[in-house]
Amino acid sequence: MPVRPASGDGSARVPGRCLRGHHLSVSGAGNGWSHFYDLPDVTCRVCAALGDPAATWCLIDPARQFVSPSAPERGLVLAVIPPVERGEPGRIELRLNGQAVGEVRLAACGPCRRAVITGVGVEVALRRLGYGRVLVAAALARAPQARYRWSTAVLPDTVEACAFWSAIGFPGTVGKPHFCSDMRLLQGDSGPETGIRRD
Ligand SMILES: [Zn+2]
Ligand SMILES: [Zn+2]
Repeated sequence: MPVRPASGDGSARVPGRCLRGHHLSVSGAGNGWSHFYDLPDVTCRVCAALGDPAATWCLIDPARQFVSPSAPERGLVLAVIPPVERGEPGRIELRLNGQAVGEVRLAACGPCRRAVITGVGVEVALRRLGYGRVLVAAALARAPQARYRWSTAVLPDTVEACAFWSAIGFPGTVGKPHFCSDMRLLQGDSGPETGIRRD
């Protein structure tokens, strides 16, 4: 079943449109619960009547992130792994029943208000379900777009990658990372400064 990030403010339990673009106010929506993901789900009634396999999808709050050891072992959750050593990227894993199925790596600098996604990956067998979108939304939730200038070091150099980055509406520059001077300074010996900072 596909998954999408829920709207940021948490109030939008039901999004405006289904995955096929139907306005749910017209097509009608049903709310349910996915025991597989342990998350709320939404069904577009028109898509369901048409037998569309993407009629029902789950919503996950991208800001609901657990520090790794305390992440629930059940359902689909976001787990933050802080850097072990200086210079390592901060990571957020998407875990299904305790198993990592994808991750995003990011560098963020609070004082410079720069944030760079340095990698996104999803298990090959589990692509095209929205996991990548959820991971990017989780990264964005760490550093608000209103205050941070976002970019990616991830090149959209394959059709698959280009399709992903052009579809998700990333609010920054894709493929041209804007590392701050602190990140650049550390790139010489110990790599970019990549701790996830919360502020
Ligand atoms: Zn629909
Ligand atoms: Zn900086």
